[in-house]
Amino acid sequence: MIIRTLALFDRFKCAGSACKDTCCVRDKLVLDNKTYFEYQRVIARGDAFGRRMVASISERNGVASFRMRENGECPFLLRNGLCELQIRLGTDKVSETCRKYPTFSKEYGNYREIGCRFSCPEVLRLVLTHPEPFAVRERENDTEPVTFDNLNVELLEALYPVRDRFLKIAQDARNPLLVTITILLKLASEVEKAIERKAYGELATLIAPFEGDDPTGGTESEIGDPAIRDDLTARMLKLQSKLEYRKEENTVRLGKALRLHASETPEERLARERGFLAFMADRIYEYRKWLFYILHRDLLDAVRDGKFYARVRYAVITTLCLFELGSIEWKNRGNKFPPQRQEDFFRNYAREIDENEKNVAKFQKKLNGKAFALPRLLHAFAVQPGTAEAETVAPVEEN
Ligand code: SF4
Repeated sequence: MIIRTLALFDRFKCAGSACKDTCCVRDKLVLDNKTYFEYQRVIARGDAFGRRMVASISERNGVASFRMRENGECPFLLRNGLCELQIRLGTDKVSETCRKYPTFSKEYGNYREIGCRFSCPEVLRLVLTHPEPFAVRERENDTEPVTFDNLNVELLEALYPVRDRFLKIAQDARNPLLVTITILLKLASEVEKAIERKAYGELATLIAPFEGDDPTGGTESEIGDPAIRDDLTARMLKLQSKLEYRKEENTVRLGKALRLHASETPEERLARERGFLAFMADRIYEYRKWLFYILHRDLLDAVRDGKFYARVRYAVITTLCLFELGSIEWKNRGNKFPPQRQEDFFRNYAREIDENEKNVAKFQKKLNGKAFALPRLLHAFAVQPGTAEAETVAPVEEN
């Protein structure tokens, strides 16, 4: 099996009790069968801890999970931020979800892809303090794939280099961010059409123009339409304000963002964007990191359902949402937006929206509507005159 891991995450180290936003707070914590079996042995001892365990586990349709505290904390999270289960039973006696977090792993036939979640503050600290593009490390072991799971192997082999090309485009700082976004959307639409026609051989042809020196791959630029841009930005903010949040601060922040957006004239919005782009000139890579994160995690799943474009659109729109929220925050805070604040934004967004199935489903449903159709997206997010950001961080070395 070929195992592909993001190299940066070799440096990851859990902050443990010093974590500022522990992963032990979540909506649900499902117990895998092996762990549940271990816990039943503890329960069988009949002591006070076993009784607490009984009270802390619920079972529904054969699936066991912890009853989280009202505030979403794990029932075994101690006040000092440590895990009582690890202390009492051993570090390996926690559910697979806890053992693996913040990594995720996905298998596609002979390939295993491993990444790390942006909902973890330590992962984000690493990501945001390393401007250089992500590098993927590849190694091979003797593990046989468990199943090919009705995988379309021909499509997988054709899709792999396409996904990798998308990751390169996302990280190529020679294009302004909005040009990157235009390229990704257009190319994704062509890729999906080829997949629909089962013309898998065409996929290599579609990405070939990006192998030369021209970072745009000859993609024609679009003419921006500020009115569509305003409309779509307002829709993106409204859409986010209707999602479910555990933390009140998200609802408050979105309320403020909507009010500021509604109070600005189109000229003021453009000036805000320009100002923010200039302010972030050497930090635009932060948005490319987010874009990469979603594309890396999601794009290969198109091998199972052919939905390539929708996944790219989700990556792009969430990036733009974060950009807009960042720019509003920058304005509201008197032209300040420290990296620490960005880390909060990304982590909150990952945890509250991107890792919440209900929220993602609502989000995707809206994006399927006419308002977010490709021609509108292209006109809305074409580079507006005078706003092409100058990125000063060149992709010198991968990490
Ligand atoms: S969120 Fe990350 S750093 Fe914090 S406790 Fe979990 S794994 Fe460790």
